[in-house]
Amino acid sequence: MSTAYDELLDATIRHLEGLKSRGVRHLAVTPEALRALSQPPPKLARPVASAPVLSVRPASIPASAPTAPESMPADTRPVIIMPPKKVVVPAETEIISSAAPGRIARSSAEKAAAFAELRERALVCKKCAHLHAARKNVVFGVGNIDAQLMFVGEAPGADEDEQGEPFVGRAGQLLTKIIEATGLQRSDVYIANILKCRPDTPGQSAGNRKPTPDEMATCIPYLHEQIDIIQPKVLIALGATAVEGLLGKTLGITKLRGNWQTYRGTPLMPTYHPAYLLRNQAMSEKRKVWEDFLQVMEKLEMPISAKQRNFFLKAI
Ligand code: URA
Repeated sequence: MSTAYDELLDATIRHLEGLKSRGVRHLAVTPEALRALSQPPPKLARPVASAPVLSVRPASIPASAPTAPESMPADTRPVIIMPPKKVVVPAETEIISSAAPGRIARSSAEKAAAFAELRERALVCKKCAHLHAARKNVVFGVGNIDAQLMFVGEAPGADEDEQGEPFVGRAGQLLTKIIEATGLQRSDVYIANILKCRPDTPGQSAGNRKPTPDEMATCIPYLHEQIDIIQPKVLIALGATAVEGLLGKTLGITKLRGNWQTYRGTPLMPTYHPAYLLRNQAMSEKRKVWEDFLQVMEKLEMPISAKQRNFFLKAI
């Protein structure tokens, strides 16, 4: 092996060890580099210059951040040249594309631990003193943290506050039916809300109210963290408040529904809240929501039967 090769390899190892000692556990790797790394090792005579270029950077650091070892000349800092070498990726490790900014690749065990820690923080949250005082339960979320599909609603109602689980009341039961109509089970997806506590209704024994902008701004970091950990392929925002909370858009759900949006790089489908479908039983409204779900199924490459394609069409 050439001296230059050895030096480069040593510098790379030192750099990676340095990152590790600073607590960096994951690196974003481009798909091209991954492909190159999965090739067999090169013949030793192969010149280093022809080796593929791998830009290695911690997943949490922007591509522009210099990541090469301090000991390397400045003009080589942003890029580390690695020899093509067989990399064995542990089965549980998910490598993310560097095209997903800000996302951390986590193994299933790390995801579960991060989620448990987040849940513990949320369960004792007292940031909104009035909601903390009025709540029976913090309604953190429910479902599969490895889900490809994640639903976001507005806030818990009385039933959800009572049971500590989102979407268990009448609207929730309808949501479960719609989920099942796609062929999925409720336990296959993840369901959460913008607010983790029921908006209080002082002086009223029943009824719900929309969260205030302050309550939404205070609570939404928990949802952002949930989404960051779950990393669903598709988000469905149920109703205007969910869209507003996630995208900051107040355009109106009637205009937005059915049109793909993007939440931090993740496709997001806005649709009507199931509570709206309970108030408006028109077949045409059910069909609109179903069409939004069909789009989601297509995006997730789920099989769609002819029967599913035609749901709610007959009576329109
Ligand atoms: N409506 C919501 O938006 N979320 C729930 O959890 C229940 C009803």
